[in-house]
Amino acid sequence: MQDKCGIVGAYSHNKSKNISRSIYYGLYALQHRGQESAGISVHNGNEMSTYRGMGLVCDVFNNESIEELEGYAGIGHVRYSTTGKSKIENSQPFFNEFQFGKIAVAHNGDVINSMELRGEMEKRGYEFKSDTDSEVICQLLTETYLKTNDIVDAIQEIVKRLIGSYSLVILFNNDLIVVRDPIGIKPLSLGKKGDMDVVASETVAFDAIDGEYIRSIEPGEILVINDEMKSYMMENAGSVKRAHCMFEYVYFARPDSILDDRNVYEVRLNIGRYLCREYSADAEIVMPVPDSAITASIGYSRESGLPYGEGLIKNRYVGRTFIMPTQEERENSVRLKMNPVKSELKGKKIVLIDDSIVRGTTSKATVDVLKEAGAKEIHLRIGCPPIISPCYYGIAMATKKELIASNKEIEEIREYLGVDSLGYLSVDSLVECIGIKRDELCLGCLTGEYPTSLPENIEEYEAKRCTCP
Ligand code: SF4
Repeated sequence: MQDKCGIVGAYSHNKSKNISRSIYYGLYALQHRGQESAGISVHNGNEMSTYRGMGLVCDVFNNESIEELEGYAGIGHVRYSTTGKSKIENSQPFFNEFQFGKIAVAHNGDVINSMELRGEMEKRGYEFKSDTDSEVICQLLTETYLKTNDIVDAIQEIVKRLIGSYSLVILFNNDLIVVRDPIGIKPLSLGKKGDMDVVASETVAFDAIDGEYIRSIEPGEILVINDEMKSYMMENAGSVKRAHCMFEYVYFARPDSILDDRNVYEVRLNIGRYLCREYSADAEIVMPVPDSAITASIGYSRESGLPYGEGLIKNRYVGRTFIMPTQEERENSVRLKMNPVKSELKGKKIVLIDDSIVRGTTSKATVDVLKEAGAKEIHLRIGCPPIISPCYYGIAMATKKELIASNKEIEEIREYLGVDSLGYLSVDSLVECIGIKRDELCLGCLTGEYPTSLPENIEEYEAKRCTCP
């Protein structure tokens, strides 16, 4: 599974300062949120410049391209596609030039009704350069500004039409504008470094520039940063419930991030502790599926008193770009990504911790690798309840029929995976581990109950979305 995108914005109140390198470092810290493309737009008070490219942040930018991006206000983006194909036209920030200047937009999330909005705009004569929902937001904002002549009013108007998830950083000429959807699905935080205000999907972007975390951007907040900082709330913000994505805590966010004032590392330690309380095991050692289950495994180990060990070593240099043309090769990719430590596994009864099971194919291949390496018993513990339904808010998971837990009972899944026991964290425990009230979390993929309306013909919608290889 992959999340769709990470965003950064920066505004220096010392206008002689160039912020492009700070955005670059911030994007570098958010690389786990998207590896397909990266881009930065900056404004220096006179003009806006944008540089985008395919690949990792370090592949897209070099010293020269960073130096050329000169400005005291800017936004950046790393992308992984859930709508739209992987191509340069779909990379962000998107920008528009019109009689009032330039608008650039970087977006994390998924706008469910974007195809409908796009269709309406095409009828009005708009031609789109990409096939993403993010360009729809950019075009809609430009069109609405022409009517309102005020950027906050224009945002207030367009958000009434957007259904889904959207954390946005917008550069409107030399103003930085930050927007988070009224239910707060995707994370977004405000930080500071000296005389520079910074916003980012995750607080690790502030750490990367030795900055400090100030607060989370409130769901429904529109924050305008120029010579001063002004906060507005969306008109419907008070009438909808929050729905923070539980999966950010379980898997996507870096463990060293703070999301909505919760320390992700603490949440994952809790997940391990609660898993142990719910599903103890007669075993000798606790091991993670690296890297995302490491912290939960430490929690399980501390709670159970069992030693923590590494049974699998991850090759951190295998990226998404690695070419595996056949299904057989893809199934085999576990062996390229993870190598067993035979001396640690041989003859042992192990508790194996993983963050989640989606299709089940990777989990099965991992179990096979451990068995071949000599593990005597494998007790698999999953730090997230069964995923029974897809995500429509920007996380590339799978279609409903591909999700193993939507088709099989837990005992059937255990048999398929070939493990000695299998335990999933319960929904109640997960909610306690995160520390946010149940009705303020999105649990859509666990319960099938989503915090927004969904397209009427959901199967057709799923088919049109770009699913990941
Ligand atoms: S459906 Fe699941 S993955 Fe998607 S936003 Fe909700 S909790 Fe997160």
